[in-house]
Order: sequence, then C-alpha cells, then structure tokens
Amino acid sequence: MATKREQKRARALQILERLDAAMPEAEIELDYQSPLELLVAVVLSAQTTDKRVNLVTPALFKAFPTARHYAQATPAQVEVYIKTVGLFRNKAKALVKLGQVLLDRHGGLVPKTRAELAELPGAGQKTAGVVSIHLGTDKAFPVDTHILRLSKRLGLSTHAEPDEVEADLRNLVPEPWWFKGHQLLIWHGRRCCDARRPECHRCVVAELCPKKGVPKKKS
Ligand code: SF4
Repeated sequence: MATKREQKRARALQILERLDAAMPEAEIELDYQSPLELLVAVVLSAQTTDKRVNLVTPALFKAFPTARHYAQATPAQVEVYIKTVGLFRNKAKALVKLGQVLLDRHGGLVPKTRAELAELPGAGQKTAGVVSIHLGTDKAFPVDTHILRLSKRLGLSTHAEPDEVEADLRNLVPEPWWFKGHQLLIWHGRRCCDARRPECHRCVVAELCPKKGVPKKKS
C-alpha cells in the first residue's frame, strides 16, 4: 500500500500531467533573444506583468545592447525606458549596477550558475532560478507568487517561504518535470487559479485540489 508521501507524489505528478495536457504550449511569456535580455526582462518582471515588461523591452534592449551600456549609463537614462514598469526607479538603479558587476566580475557576460546569478544586483533566488533554467545551465523549480499560492491551495506545500516551497516541490516532483512544472503552475495561476477569484468550476485539476471552491480571497 502506498504511503502518504507516495500518494502525495503521485497526486503532484497527476496535477502536472493534467495541466500539461490542457496547456502543452506553456512557456515563459517574456520576450528575449540573449542571456542578457532574459536576465534584464526577469529583473524587470518583479511585481509587474510580463505583458507590461514586453512593451518596454524592445526599446530598452535597443538602447542598451550590452552590459557595458548599462554600466556606463545613469539610472535616469535607464528610467526613461522603463517608467511604466512597477518600481522603475529601483530597477533602473539595479540595472546600472548589474551592468557594472557583469563587466567587473564576469567579463560582460551573464554567469551560468544559479548561485552566481543570485548574487547579481536586482536578482535573487527566484530570478536566478528562472534565468538558469531557461539558459539550461541549472535544474531548479523557482517559485514565484503564482507557484507560492498554488502550492498552498493544491496541498503541495505548507510553507510560506519560496525557498522552502521549492524544496518541497523538488522532493515531490520528478526532476524531468521541474522546468515544465514551473511554467505550468504559473500559467494555471494566471489563467484559472487567480489569487482573488479562482475559477474552480472550469479547473482541470479540481478533482485533485483540496481547496476546490474554497478560496474566495487571496490565500
Ligand atoms: S480547484 Fe480552484 S483552488 Fe484548486 S487549483 Fe483549481 S482553481 Fe485553484
């Protein structure tokens, strides 16, 4: 007979398989064409929608094509391009510092490992995880606000801190599913399991969700 742990693992996998069947096209929604553009876009996406980031990045990437361009700019010069993005002043400062650190410590290139990425200005574990899995340089299950919420609702983690939730997900979900699982949970959070109004009546994992129909407010 399967232990509770095994049952939980099987349920987690079933959830991802169902989400994958419903949204096989799930992928990162930020536009980028190089590691630097990916890193900058992910830094900009904190507390801002990807759609909004994608509106500003074409002009930003054109004006700042290399780490040196950011390093030699003033925050005010970067702000001009990102002022419709949330926390743009802090992010402009971070991008200038980011350019300087990339130049000083990494030869102007984006480092590959999550540990190195997490030390960059404006980055953290989530940003570093997202960048490294999309560069294909590390295995991770980075946890954003959607994954945090869904992990709790779906009973996959009882923790509140992203690092702890990621550890739970990595324990429950087989490694080949980490990358896709990250995308799928974000897409499900954006398209169905909304923070305020989850649409449980049309949710493809409702049968597997202990909170089906329960969340009426942010949880
Ligand atoms: S059943 Fe409702 S709360 Fe559970 S995952 Fe689906 S939308 Fe979210």
